[in-house]
Amino acid sequence: MEIIHHGAVNGVTGSCHQLKISESESLLIDCGLFQGLEARQDLGIEFDISAVRALLVTHCHIDHVGRIPYLLAAGFTGPIYASEATAALLPLVIEDALKLGVTEDEQLVATCLRLIRQQLVPLPFKHWQTLDKFSTAVRFRLQRAGHILGSAYIEIDVGQGKQAQRVVFSGDLGAPYTPLLPAPKPPYKADTLVIESTYGDTLHQGRKTRSKRLKEVIEKAVRDNGVVLIPAFSIGRTQELLYELEQIIHSAPKRSFWQDIEVIIDSPMAANFTSEYRRFKSLWDQEAKARG
Ligand SMILES: [Zn+2]
Repeated sequence: MEIIHHGAVNGVTGSCHQLKISESESLLIDCGLFQGLEARQDLGIEFDISAVRALLVTHCHIDHVGRIPYLLAAGFTGPIYASEATAALLPLVIEDALKLGVTEDEQLVATCLRLIRQQLVPLPFKHWQTLDKFSTAVRFRLQRAGHILGSAYIEIDVGQGKQAQRVVFSGDLGAPYTPLLPAPKPPYKADTLVIESTYGDTLHQGRKTRSKRLKEVIEKAVRDNGVVLIPAFSIGRTQELLYELEQIIHSAPKRSFWQDIEVIIDSPMAANFTSEYRRFKSLWDQEAKARG
């Protein structure tokens, strides 16, 4: 067994890991786009995919899934496994990425989306999925990662019974006490752990402090007759912000400006995702469920 990292090695985007089980049998975990300062001109898949039997997707941020169209263009016809929520979100993300960054050719976009929908296999969390036609036993399961809706870390067992080696791919992990989603539970065990560390060198502020600061910033802006513009990722961050704003408005005095404040989401995709977040209420944490 061997692990080859095709992305997120010298930087933090382009996540794409190949788990080689034998010379002719591989799994791919994520197939992300290089973004920002790490962006590349040539987006084609630069490695041999003839041995890749299946793609396992941790979550649908573009730096984890953005090169799936290129993987399909390179001839990948295997299954794309993802959690149920990720499977619902993935076509929306890819459609948006293709239309904004790649092509205006509607036909091409439609073909790509059709292939993705055909190859997608939605899986429930915690369900051991066995992969057939490998020279040894291979199974995997998705566990909740608490990062964005549908996000998972993946446990893969390679080999039979007690000889099995467990490889865990973290994907992106949510911090504890974030709004909306429950914190991830650690895996029971791992022989090999591949962990993403985008904010590994940063200490986050606590949720209470962040919420208090947000409130103060908006109150100051209102006093100054100003407007607050917040750039935010359309998947995950926007919904967390809306959730926190709702809480601030809810707990503010009844006759304050908060009751009339206007919140505008200037992004059709973010609005689509907010609907999807509502639809998958079963994945919310206890606090969010209680608030409804
Ligand atoms: Zn992510």
